[in-house]
Amino acid sequence: MAYVIVTEDITEVQAKIAGAHARADVEAANQQLEALVRDTDFEAMSPQDMLGWVGETVDPARTVVSTSFQYSGMATIHMMWELGLSLRVATMDTLRLHAETYAFIRETEQRYGIEIEVHRPDAAEIDSMVQRFGEFLFFDSKAKQEYCCQVRKTRPHDRLLKTADCWITGLRRDQSVTRSKTPKAQTVAEYGSRRLILKLNPMADWTQKRLLEYTTANEIPVHGLYAQGYESIGCVICSTPTAAGEAPRAGRWRWFNKDDEMSQEDLKECGLHVPQYHI
Ligand code: SF4
Repeated sequence: MAYVIVTEDITEVQAKIAGAHARADVEAANQQLEALVRDTDFEAMSPQDMLGWVGETVDPARTVVSTSFQYSGMATIHMMWELGLSLRVATMDTLRLHAETYAFIRETEQRYGIEIEVHRPDAAEIDSMVQRFGEFLFFDSKAKQEYCCQVRKTRPHDRLLKTADCWITGLRRDQSVTRSKTPKAQTVAEYGSRRLILKLNPMADWTQKRLLEYTTANEIPVHGLYAQGYESIGCVICSTPTAAGEAPRAGRWRWFNKDDEMSQEDLKECGLHVPQYHI
């Protein structure tokens, strides 16, 4: 009779088996999600149809509308309210938002009777970044601006997505060239893991004109900075008003507008919606 000599501690073996099972579960769930995205005609759905589908299909506690309270995010919240959906609404507080944004968060909560999750950066990461590069590192280079966005916005958002199976955005194709091919549904991998998350962009095919008409017709609250000429709203200093004829995101990181090395479109994303999830 041959004996199998087990040299590993039994708990290590059990942990490996449990890990293998967990990986298999994740792979199976990923395949199901990919099939769902492939076989469901999300492109034919209106934003309301898609939100209705979400309400019937996905666990609301694991579904998050992530917004910075611009027109499309507010329209999404309004549609949710009309449909009677109680999905989670979350925003990233970079600690550098405009006073108008903080006030508008409260106004939106009161208008729709919801509680908005406000996610902040890790204090130790902020301290370390500021000590190394200073508070205004984003002026120095595109790389340092992206690092600041990562610490203040992308990493907290990655942590948020660990609590979600479905992420709803307000992305629209007419916002910029980089967003012109935005699908209505896609999968993205959770940061640092193989788990896939369903990312839905219900407003993807809405134009700015259509969105403004919907906003006015439904008396949806509007962020106060629009009246001051802002077309894209983010942090203080990094987002500025745009002049007539400028691209919607031209007011972002204006000091890079004359950079010859990178395209304007590359310069106008903060990282939240750029594929960067390396598995
Ligand atoms: Fe930092 Fe500016 Fe990005 Fe805000 S927009 S996180 S201040 S670089």
